[in-house]
Formats: sequence, structure tokens, C-alpha cells
Amino acid sequence: MMTAALVLGGAGLVLGAGLAFVAVKIAVPPDERVAAVRERLPGANCGACGFPGCDGLAAALVKGEAKPDSCTAGGPATAAAVAEVLGLEAVAGERMVVAVHCVGTNQAARRSYEYLGIADCRAAAIMPGGGPRACSYGCVGLGTCVRACPFDALAMDDEAGLPVVDREKCTSCGICTQECPKNIMALVPASQPTLVSCRNLDKGPQVRKACSAGCIACGLCVRSCPQKTISLVNNVACIDPAGCDGCGTCVEKCPTKCIVFTHNVPVVQAV
Ligand code: SF4
Ligand code: SF4
Repeated sequence: MMTAALVLGGAGLVLGAGLAFVAVKIAVPPDERVAAVRERLPGANCGACGFPGCDGLAAALVKGEAKPDSCTAGGPATAAAVAEVLGLEAVAGERMVVAVHCVGTNQAARRSYEYLGIADCRAAAIMPGGGPRACSYGCVGLGTCVRACPFDALAMDDEAGLPVVDREKCTSCGICTQECPKNIMALVPASQPTLVSCRNLDKGPQVRKACSAGCIACGLCVRSCPQKTISLVNNVACIDPAGCDGCGTCVEKCPTKCIVFTHNVPVVQAV
């Protein structure tokens, strides 16, 4: 009995030592670049890069499965720092910021009914007519985007019933654009001078019935733009930012004032 136990114990020890030896031999040493890249990421873990947090992105970057500028929250500075660790060239893209394509304020947009459900835009958007506001394309106004922003770059203007963007804080992570059920939050180049703040695709008379500030596709902006950079697409004015020099003619001519200067968009501080 004692001998059998000794033989079994000895065999176990030899096997264990052998396995440990093999494990050490075939082990892949951790890539120190993962930690170095991780250190250079902002640590917001916002997931906007499409990877599970900053750890996931760091591993993907080292494996070559992501580009150095994948972290929109970190912006160009992070892209440059990451590229340096990986020995790659940083891609210097233009800074983007989110813009709200709706001017349907509480005052301008007609309400079809009172919504008393949960305070979430996605819940309200599946109600009849796409929500309580008569414009089915416009902002629902319940602030789902504001709550989704990990960088406090959005706040609700309660009087207007629309979200406003703090362009300094916006990292262009794009999370709000994914959360908005109306697709009215979009990333635009930070240098873009003007913005058509409406996405209502209906014809003018129908728009008028729903919202006094919507684009009625009258074409005044198209005809008056000295740069010929505005066109009507599906009943909405569309500005090609590459051609716009910010002269403001369209802002002045638009009868409903749905074209705005991007730098004039009000800032409401998050509380
Ligand atoms: S922009 Fe979209 S998510 Fe934000 S308040 Fe309006 S409908 Fe809701
Ligand atoms: S002038 Fe205003 S309302 Fe008319 S088409 Fe242009 S953006 Fe729309």
C-alpha cells in the first residue's frame, strides 16, 4: 500500500514537472507593446472604437487589427502617440464634431399628443407617428443622446426641447449618433461653417403643418448660394462642406431659418 502510494506520488511529481517545463518552453512572452499602447489610450472605455474597452483596442492595435486613429475619443494626439509605439505613421484626419440636424424646438414643432411613457427617445419613437411631435423625422426631445454621451458633451436645452453640443468636449466618438432613434445626430467636420438643421424628407406643405422651422425645399438657398454648393436632395437642402466658404447668404435667405452657422450653436452646460 505504502509502495503504491509512493510510486503514484512520484509519477505525479514527474508528470507535473514535465508539464511545467513544457508550459515554460512553449509560453508566448506577453507583448510589452500592449501595455505601452494601453497607457497612451485615454481609458474612457467608451467602446466607440468597436472593441471591448481600451484593453481590447490596445490588443487589436498591436495585432494590426485596428488603425492608430481608431480611438476617436483620444483624437489626433492619441493616434500619434499610439503610432509612435507601433512604429507606424499617424493618420492626421480632420477633427469631427457631432451636430444636431433638427431645429424643431418645443415652440416650432407641433405636438400630435402628450406622451406619458418612459423618458427614453427610443421608447417614444415606436409610438404612433414616431413619437409625440408631429414631425416624424425630428428630435423626440427626451435626451437619450445626452445620457449616452460618455464625455458630457451634450446637454438638453429644456426650453427648446433639443440637445445642444459642447463642441470643445465632443470627442466624435459617435455614441450619440448610434443611440438616437431618429438619426439626427451626425458627425461633421469641425471646420464646416454651416449646417442644414433639418432632416424632414416630406414636401413643403406637409413640413409646414408639422414644424415652422423645417426645411420646406423652397430652393432659395440653392439659388442664392454664391458658391453653388447647395442642392436639394429628397426635399432637404444639402450643403457640400468642401465648397462652403461660410458667407452666410443661405443662413440669411432661408425663410424657416433651418440653416445655421455651426459656430453659433448654443452651448448648454451639462449639470
Ligand atoms: S437627438 Fe435623438 S436621442 Fe437625442 S433627444 Fe433628440 S431624438 Fe432623443
Ligand atoms: S431656403 Fe431653407 S427652407 Fe428653403 S430649401 Fe433652403 S433650407 Fe430649405
